[in-house]
Amino acid sequence: MMIPAPVEIRRVGTRALRVRWDDGHESDYSNRYLRDHCPCAACHERSRSLPIVGASARDIYPAQIGVVGRYAVGIGWSDGHDSGIYSYKTLRELCPCGHCTAPTARNTQVT
Ligand SMILES: [Zn+2]
Ligand SMILES: [Zn+2]
Repeated sequence: MMIPAPVEIRRVGTRALRVRWDDGHESDYSNRYLRDHCPCAACHERSRSLPIVGASARDIYPAQIGVVGRYAVGIGWSDGHDSGIYSYKTLRELCPCGHCTAPTARNTQVT
């Protein structure tokens, strides 16, 4: 299966990022949601025991966004955390839209 690649990433207001994919799909991720799903080892460890809570976590936003290699997006957060590398595949799987989260979406290859 071809993994879609982002063709555009931009901020939506101060709370979210929008990714436009090369298959035409658009994904809106809130900053908090993305950070909560940071795939780096440190965040994985932390999320098992101690989720980020409180006002400071809500205010975290992506300060830097860049392509890493050819298959991933790196996000540098406003609190200095910059080891989160989201592969295109991971990022797409995180898409919170109704289509991607529909129970059947994972199993069917629809248009
Ligand atoms: Zn992380
Ligand atoms: Zn989606």
